[in-house]
Amino acid sequence: MARSGGTEGPSPQLPSLFDHLPPWEEDDRAEALTAKVVFPDGPPGDFDYLVPPELASRLQPGQRVRVPLGKGNRLVVGYCVEATIQPVGQRVLKPIRQLVDERPLLSPAMLRLTRWMADYYLCDWAAVLDTVLPAGVRHRAGLRLTTFWAPNTEALAKLDLATLPPKQRSILQILRDANEPLTAPQLQKLAKCSGGPIAALQRKGLLVGRAVRIRRQDIVLPPEPRQPNLPLNPDQQKALDAICQVLHSGQHRTILLYGVTGSGKTEVYIQAIQEVLRFGRQAIVLVPEISLTPQTLQRFRTRFDSVAVLHSHLTDAERHWQWEQIASGRVQVVIGARSAVFAPTPHLGMIILDEEHESSFKQQQTPRYHAREVALQRAAAESVPLVLGSATPSLESWLKAQQGQYLLIQLPRRINDRPLPPVSTIDLRTENSGKKATAITRPLYAAMRETLQEGGQIILLLNRRGYSTHIQCPACGYVLKCPHCDIALTHHRTEQIALCHYCDHHEPAPSACPQCEFPGILYRGLGTQRLEVEVRSRFPGVPCVRMDTDSMQARGAHVRALEAFRTGRVRILLGTQMIAKGLDFPEVTLVGVVNADTALHLPDFRAGERTFQLVAQVAGRTGRGPKGGRVLVQTFTPDHPVIQAAIQHDYPRFAQTELSLREAFGYPPFCRMIRLVVRGPHPQPTAEFANLLAERIREQLTGVDPPARVLGPAPAPFAKLRGLYRYHIQLQSPDGEQLRKAVRKASEKVETPENIQWIADVDPVEML
Ligand SMILES: [Zn+2]
Ligand SMILES: [Zn+2]
Repeated sequence: MARSGGTEGPSPQLPSLFDHLPPWEEDDRAEALTAKVVFPDGPPGDFDYLVPPELASRLQPGQRVRVPLGKGNRLVVGYCVEATIQPVGQRVLKPIRQLVDERPLLSPAMLRLTRWMADYYLCDWAAVLDTVLPAGVRHRAGLRLTTFWAPNTEALAKLDLATLPPKQRSILQILRDANEPLTAPQLQKLAKCSGGPIAALQRKGLLVGRAVRIRRQDIVLPPEPRQPNLPLNPDQQKALDAICQVLHSGQHRTILLYGVTGSGKTEVYIQAIQEVLRFGRQAIVLVPEISLTPQTLQRFRTRFDSVAVLHSHLTDAERHWQWEQIASGRVQVVIGARSAVFAPTPHLGMIILDEEHESSFKQQQTPRYHAREVALQRAAAESVPLVLGSATPSLESWLKAQQGQYLLIQLPRRINDRPLPPVSTIDLRTENSGKKATAITRPLYAAMRETLQEGGQIILLLNRRGYSTHIQCPACGYVLKCPHCDIALTHHRTEQIALCHYCDHHEPAPSACPQCEFPGILYRGLGTQRLEVEVRSRFPGVPCVRMDTDSMQARGAHVRALEAFRTGRVRILLGTQMIAKGLDFPEVTLVGVVNADTALHLPDFRAGERTFQLVAQVAGRTGRGPKGGRVLVQTFTPDHPVIQAAIQHDYPRFAQTELSLREAFGYPPFCRMIRLVVRGPHPQPTAEFANLLAERIREQLTGVDPPARVLGPAPAPFAKLRGLYRYHIQLQSPDGEQLRKAVRKASEKVETPENIQWIADVDPVEML
């Protein structure tokens, strides 16, 4: 039941004549048109308002409204999410004052989707609406109020034109000739005059103005020459046929397209979208932000007339413009990262989510949604197919495909029958023993030299930023840590700083131990900066570029670096996971994984899955051209089942082993999980509140069927971040709704102390 926005007292909007009469008292069943409103910058929950008669015909759910709120009747903007005729009984409802939007910003279908998100992800509906609608759309960015002027025919009829000065007469003549309203700057130009005569005409009431919001600039991309379809091999054709069959059924179905790296998934997507367009519908293609490269976009732009790209570098005005283009139905294909799942396509025909295993599809702030889950909801509600594509599917999707919930389509071979590259391991335990350890071992060095001699290109993966990953004193064991986070500082040599990767705290890199003043403090652990220094000194004169979040901060740096590599100007590309994904460079004949174990031992049940994905994906970057390719993986644990499966390109075997482990331990995808993180500035009260919260949740979950598990509270693996101590609680159950109910109930029963915050992360992908 919605709270009433007006229960605090009689509304000052009522005529004073009726002040002594409580409204509606004579008939409790009196009905009125009411609107449910939610507030992004107000109290949580929804509130009922009265729709005044003059707005009744114009108000629609999905519009924003300005309404009085609270005791002071402060005017606040909220979203109207529902309009109904209902008995208002004795409730005194305040009236809506004003409509903010002329048309709804959200369709009824999108309203239902956002409602579902609020329920599923345990957050406020208004917060979801603010996420779904880009800021540029909410603020109507790029739309400037411009006044167009026309002659006031009524006033002019009563006037002898000859009495007007010549310039003013000529302006009126220009407007008559133009036969359409013009702006003041346009008039000045045409009449070759200053603003004076126009202002004079305005003062005399001889011009009438109409204010219109217009775009500051239209963003027009030059058309690309059209490219024909590529021929499909039998596997691709089978995949396309299966997708089209689902499409023609007019029903929702989720398809998992499991295709090895280089198997030509994109061509299948493109031809499936062509089928979608034949029905006058639109398609949404979601890709990780990092894959929104010029080549990807070029590929779509040369095959379709109108492609909208939603990426994070758009200005608010550009985003607003794109949004309007999409909503008008003029766009055939929308390509974008996570949030493009909310693109307002009027006739959605299909959603494609490429690299569906990517954790970047999960948003790490409220609402903590996963684009895959939202896409599934949206596709089901609009009865259209959802295609999930990956060479290393998430175990969640793989299990559903195995159980028959998703349709599994495989592309087991690379296009043109190119083989997957051979992968071999280099055992770091033996290679690095007894000698001064280097990032590049002897066999990797030899392979690199050979590759360069043969004119090939090299990719080196090291998933750690910085120069040294920690700074430690050999005398007293002291490790330099961030004062705000419980995390070792990373040495960044270019800037000569010790940097925290979580809060950006930095301090000068010390030469002596800050604790015991021992002068020989050691910089340990290998990061990409140090790898770059080593590569440059061992391969002098060979052009090399480093790609990680430090070197790629400038806008367009990413694109420039890849372009330099594509054209062959750069021979060695080294970097973090940024370089592991989606790149397609036929001249890359060697991939080196500098340390495959960086993610393997993290306290996260997905550590094995992440390691497999990373190694398999980066291995897929080679052997894409006629020259073939090979992969060398340096590791301390060459016999680890995850490494073994990765070097044999054996995803099904990896999945089988990993799924049986997950099942044995009761981890996702065999259960649903909610992770609660409690944060506070002091450890003791934070821990106490975490205990209380866990206690309340345990009460809710005692004796439930199926049984649920509550783990913790325990200090989070990152026990302190940005000055706040962190405790986490994990809830697990086969029934996710049961967990949500428990969290909702418990949150009603606990009072969160002033400076403590807690968040609920439904289906978490981040466990640190
Ligand atoms: Zn020391
Ligand atoms: Zn920090």
